[in-house]
Amino acid sequence: MLFPEAQAVEPPASEGPSWGQYANVAVNRPVRCEFTYGVPEEMVGRVARGMRVAVPFGPKREVGVVVGLGDEPPAKGKAKALAAVLDEEAMVGEDLLALTRWMGTEYACSWGEALLAVLPAALKREKGEARVVVVSAAPGVGDKELAEVEVRWPQQHRLLRTLIEIAGPIEKREIERRLNLSDSPVRSLARRGWVLIERVAREDDLMAGKSDRSRPERLTDRQRSAVDALLTPLVAREHAGFLLEGVTGSGKTEVYLEVIERALAIGRGAIVLVPEIALTPQTVGWFRSRFEHVAVLHSRMTDAQRLRMWRRVSRGEARVVVGARSAIFAPVKDLGVVVVDEEHEPSFKQGSVPRYHARDVALRRAREAGAVCVLGSATPSLESWQAAREGRLTALALPERISGHGFPPIEVVDMRTEPTLVENGRGTRLFSKRLADLLRAGLAKGEQSILFLNRRGFSPVLWCSGCKTTVRCDTCDVGLTWHRNIRRLVCHICCEERPVPGQCPTCSKPGLHQLGAGSERVEQELGLLLPEARLARMDSDTMRRREDYEEVLGAFGKGEIDLLVGTQMIAKGLDFPRVTLVGIVNADSSLHLPDFRSAERTFQLISQVAGRAGRGDLTGRIIVQTTATDHYAIQHAAAHDYTGFATRESGLREELGYPPHARMVRVLVEDLDERLASEGIERAAHVLRQVDGVAVLGPAPAPIAMMRGRHRRHIMVKTTSEEQLDRVRAVLIELSGEQRKPRLTIDVDPVSVL
Ligand code: ADP
Ligand code: ZN
Repeated sequence: MLFPEAQAVEPPASEGPSWGQYANVAVNRPVRCEFTYGVPEEMVGRVARGMRVAVPFGPKREVGVVVGLGDEPPAKGKAKALAAVLDEEAMVGEDLLALTRWMGTEYACSWGEALLAVLPAALKREKGEARVVVVSAAPGVGDKELAEVEVRWPQQHRLLRTLIEIAGPIEKREIERRLNLSDSPVRSLARRGWVLIERVAREDDLMAGKSDRSRPERLTDRQRSAVDALLTPLVAREHAGFLLEGVTGSGKTEVYLEVIERALAIGRGAIVLVPEIALTPQTVGWFRSRFEHVAVLHSRMTDAQRLRMWRRVSRGEARVVVGARSAIFAPVKDLGVVVVDEEHEPSFKQGSVPRYHARDVALRRAREAGAVCVLGSATPSLESWQAAREGRLTALALPERISGHGFPPIEVVDMRTEPTLVENGRGTRLFSKRLADLLRAGLAKGEQSILFLNRRGFSPVLWCSGCKTTVRCDTCDVGLTWHRNIRRLVCHICCEERPVPGQCPTCSKPGLHQLGAGSERVEQELGLLLPEARLARMDSDTMRRREDYEEVLGAFGKGEIDLLVGTQMIAKGLDFPRVTLVGIVNADSSLHLPDFRSAERTFQLISQVAGRAGRGDLTGRIIVQTTATDHYAIQHAAAHDYTGFATRESGLREELGYPPHARMVRVLVEDLDERLASEGIERAAHVLRQVDGVAVLGPAPAPIAMMRGRHRRHIMVKTTSEEQLDRVRAVLIELSGEQRKPRLTIDVDPVSVL
C-alpha cells in the first residue's frame, strides 16, 4: 500500500492541546499520506467518515475529506484542529471511499487527489458558487475595436474576435480554457467596455427533452441471448464483466436499455458512460424516453447544475446516470449495471491528476458493487479484446445490423498514383478522381456525402523553398497552421496567433508555400469542384457553441446541406439515412503519429467513419484515400475485419512488449529550463533502472519536445509484473516527493504519449 493510512507526518508540530478525538483527512495535494487533525469539542459528534472538512494546511485552508476517526493521537507532533465541518451527512459513501483509495494506488496519486476529483466542483471549495460568470462582446463592437488591439494585444484580439463570432454569452471559464488565456485579457477588454461580464444563475439544461425511441416489438435472437447473459449475474447480484462487440446499428443500445430496465425493476441503479462527443440530446433522450428519472452529467454543465444532479442521485431520486468520463463517480445507490459505450475511445482517459481510465474504474467499481459491467464497441480496444480472449471478460457479439443492410463497401484509393493537380498550383491533390466522381454523382442524385479529415485550419505547413524550413511556434515544438478565414497563423498547442509573414522568418525569402490540407482548404476546394453544392464545415473553429452543432446537424438532417466536411466531431454517432458517400481525405495522418496505438486508431477511425454511410435504405460507399494502401490497419478496415486486425496488432504488440501484453508507465518531466528538465528525467531514469526486470525506454525528448515554453522529456516503462509495477510507482512517488522542481508527471497506462 503506497499511502499508509493514519500516518501523521504533517502538518508540522505545533504546540497545542491534545484532543479527545482525531480525524484522518485526505487533502487534494500530491502527498503520500493522509493527515491527522484534532476534533474540537464542539465538532465531536458532527463529523463522520466521508464528510468534507476545512483544515489548516501550511499557511492556507484546504477542503479535505474525512477518511477515518479515532482517539489515537498522531505518532509524532501535535495535531492541529479541524477548522470547520462542511457537511451534515457524508458526501462520499463507503463505496466511493474504497474506489478512490484504489485509484490512488493504481494511478500513483494521493487518496485526496482522487477523492476531490470525484466530487462535483462546487463541493471542492468551501463556498460553492451557484452562479456562473459569462462574458460576451458588447453590442456594436466590431472591426474597429478589433483593429485597435490587433497588433499590440494579440490575446485580446483573439478573445474579442472569438466573442464576436460566438455572438452571445459564454461561460468565462470555458472561453479562457478554450483559448488558453488567463483572465487578464477579459478584464482589459471589460475595462474598455468592449466585453461584458455578467453573473447569472444559469438553469437551462441543454440535455432536457426526450427523443422518441420506440421500444422494439421483440429483441432479435442475438440481442436476447446478450441480454440473458447480462441478466443472470445482475439478478444474482454478482459481479461480471462483458465485452459487447457490435457495429453501430447492431442494437447495442437496445440491449443496454433492456438490462437497465430490469435493474431498476429489482431496485438497482445504473451508470452509462459515453464519450463526451457522443453525449448529445439525442442519446440522452433515448434514456429519458425509457426511464423516468435520468440524471445527466456532462462537461458543459455549470457547477451548480452538476451539484444538483449529484444530490438528486445521492438522494436516490435519479437512479440512472448518463454521462461522460466522470459520471463513473456518480453516487448511485445499489449500483447494478455499468455500461461503457464506445469503450475504445481515448477520451475515457483523464489527462490530469488523477489520470484514471474510466473503463478500468468502471470495471473496478462494478466489481466492488457486485454489479454487471458491459463494455460496448464496434472496434474494442486491444486491452478489452485481450481480456475477453483470456476470459477476464465474457465476449458477446452482435455481428449484424438490425436494418439487415450489409456493410458498405470500402474502397482504398492509392494517392501515389493519382496525378497531381497542376492547375491549383500547390501540387497537392485533395480529391482523387474516384472520390470527385462519386461526389458529383451523389449530388446529382440528391444524396448526401460526408468528408472527413483530422486537421483543422487551411494548411498545416508553411514552408520556405529558400531555407527549407517551416514556420514554427516560438514556444511550442510544432509548426503553425495557416487559418485562411481569420488570416492568421495559429499554434494548435498554445492557441497563440500571429499574422502571416510576407517572407520567411528564417531567411527572409519572400513567398511561403502553403502545404498540406486542413478542413478549411477541403471546404474551399470542394466549393471549386462542386460550386452548386450546399456545404457546411464542422470543426472546433466553426462549432464554437453547442447550439452551432445542433444547428448544422439539424440542417443536414433536413437535407438543407449536401456535403458536410469535418474533423473528429463528425466521426461519431451521426445517423443520417440519406448519406451514401463518406470520404476519408487522408488516412495517413493518423497512421504516422509517433504512438504505438497509431494503427489501432487508424483502424478505429476508418471503421467508425464508415459506419456513417448507408444507414438508411440507400446503399453507401466509403472511399479511403491513402498512400499506405498495403498497411494492415487499412487493409483490415477495408475488409470490415476487426478480428483479423486485432490478431495481427496483438501479435506485433506482444513482440514489442506493449499493452495489452504489458503495463506501461510514462514519466514526463517539464520545465522552462532545458537543463533542469534533462536533469530531472535523468534522476527518474536512474531510480527506475534500479527496479529489477522492468524495461526503461528513454529518457528522450517527448514527441512534442516543447509546449508553452516548457521543455519536455519522457521515459516509458514497460513491465509484465504487477509487483514490478508497484515498485515503479513507489520509486516515482518517492522521487516526486523529494523534488518540487521540475514538474514530474506519472501516467500509469498512458493513452496519449505525445
Ligand atoms: P447501436 O447502439 O448498436 O448503434 P441501436 O440499439 O441504437 O444500435 O439500434 C439501431 C436501430 O435499430 C435503432 O433505430 C433501434 O431502434 C433499432 N432496433 C434495435 N433493436 C431492434 C429490434 N430488436 N427490433 C427492431 N428494431 C430495433
Ligand atoms: Zn504554441
